[in-house]
Amino acid sequence: MNDLSIHVLDKLVADLGDIPVVTDPKVVRRRSRDFFWYSPVLNEQLDGKSADLIVAPRDENDVIATVATCARHRVPVTVRAGGTGNYGQAVPLEGGVLFDVTALTGIEWIKPGILRVEAGAKLNAIDAELQGHGSELRMHPSTKRTATIGGFVAGGSGGIGSVTYGGLREPGNILAARVVTVEEEPRIIELRGDAAQKINRTYGTTGIITALEMPLAPAWKWIDLVVVFDEFLEAASFGYDAALADGIIKKVLAPITWPLPSYFGALRPYCPEGKSILIAMIAEPSLESFKALLGARGTITLETPTDDSPGQVPLYEYTWNHTTLQVLKTDRSVTYLQCLYPHDRLMEKIVEMRKLFPDEVLQHLEFIRFNGRVTCSGLPVVRYRGVDRLNEIIRLHEECEVYIANPHVYTVEDGSRYKRVDADQLGFKHEVDPHGLLNPGKMRSFVTARP
Ligand SMILES: Cc1cc2nc3c(=O)[nH]c(=O)nc-3n(C[C@H](O)[C@H](O)[C@H](O)COP(=O)(O)OP(=O)(O)OC[C@H]3O[C@@H](n4cnc5c(N)ncnc54)[C@H](O)[C@@H]3O)c2cc1C
Repeated sequence: MNDLSIHVLDKLVADLGDIPVVTDPKVVRRRSRDFFWYSPVLNEQLDGKSADLIVAPRDENDVIATVATCARHRVPVTVRAGGTGNYGQAVPLEGGVLFDVTALTGIEWIKPGILRVEAGAKLNAIDAELQGHGSELRMHPSTKRTATIGGFVAGGSGGIGSVTYGGLREPGNILAARVVTVEEEPRIIELRGDAAQKINRTYGTTGIITALEMPLAPAWKWIDLVVVFDEFLEAASFGYDAALADGIIKKVLAPITWPLPSYFGALRPYCPEGKSILIAMIAEPSLESFKALLGARGTITLETPTDDSPGQVPLYEYTWNHTTLQVLKTDRSVTYLQCLYPHDRLMEKIVEMRKLFPDEVLQHLEFIRFNGRVTCSGLPVVRYRGVDRLNEIIRLHEECEVYIANPHVYTVEDGSRYKRVDADQLGFKHEVDPHGLLNPGKMRSFVTARP
């Protein structure tokens, strides 16, 4: 039991009426976790943190009734969707209600280029539905098969597709959001355009998102490719050329240094010993141009249509934060970082980082657009030698102007850094969560007396 008395919780459950609730402590503890264990630092800080109960709204009316009840009883509410966040975003620090929004899955409408969908819908279910309309989401995290659209917007930043469209933070990548406030009499707020960025990557501290309007891309037949290079820098250099080739339609370009591919399980036969690779997703009509650009610079060892149907492992599950997971499956002595390389000195900085940490920081890059420029997000796998050395590595990166969004802290302010936009998220929090009940402790700059 956390800070809340059993008396308050009993009253809360009684007031919730027929809204589904789970109180089995084992289930509640298990579902109060996410992927924070990627970080040895967070693993220590967050282990054992748990909600007191799970509430699972069936629709928006249940959302409104639940948050009104929680506001009345001053009970904290932490939203949980797919539970794939990496920094303990969905871990309740002060107990209370874990708010499972995964039943809110309806697609409200699809128009050419736009979709309106409930926030708990899974990304793979959305894309499956969009296929029939010749469309797909512009981008998705590598957790597409488990994560939700609301969790992506509230906790993620970008991913597969960001090489073309940039991250969620770029103007036009979130069109609108419907948000329920946490008050005795909840209000519904529709945020449109730039205002929708107020709920982007705020870890569920700025209202309950019940629906989102997202822009779409044309659906392509995607081809998964593994391209092998003698040297990592050749993989990075070719990836850069492919990223800059605007006529080549792509969804992923991810250079990955040896020895990381040695951990790649089922992909291992396509990753020769000692060689670095580039993982690519290329639209079928662009394949010929991609191969012409590659020429004799690298060797394609795998070329197969993307298949993320049940039972299949798509190649994107070796990219973005999945690269680290593939290594962690057999080696728990590593962790990772999230870096943004300066676009105007990209290759120079990649070479510099490689020289600075030859065996300790194993490079994995993802080509992205950032503020309209082609650059790389780095998600290197780091051999963990204690928190002091980790902080030193972060400092050394930043000294070299390779910026870090620290995945070893759990607050919005400390963790998000370059992934955030300049929206008044703190001001909006005061507006939608006056009692400070939403995921308390995650927005460090928010202070409230909780009467
Ligand atoms: C293996 C792995 C790979 C990953 N790859 C990527 C990647 O490529 N790109 C990327 O950006 N991230 C990535 N992530 C992080 C994570 O998967 C994404 O952020 C994902 O989109 C989270 O979705 P979810 O449904 O699991 O959200 P959850 O983890 O359940 O929630 C994430 C945050 O959003 C809040 N939230 C969820 N739903 C709502 C809602 N309806 N209203 C208000 N707040 C809400 C939660 O409170 C929490 O703070 C990865 C994580 C893992 C473990």
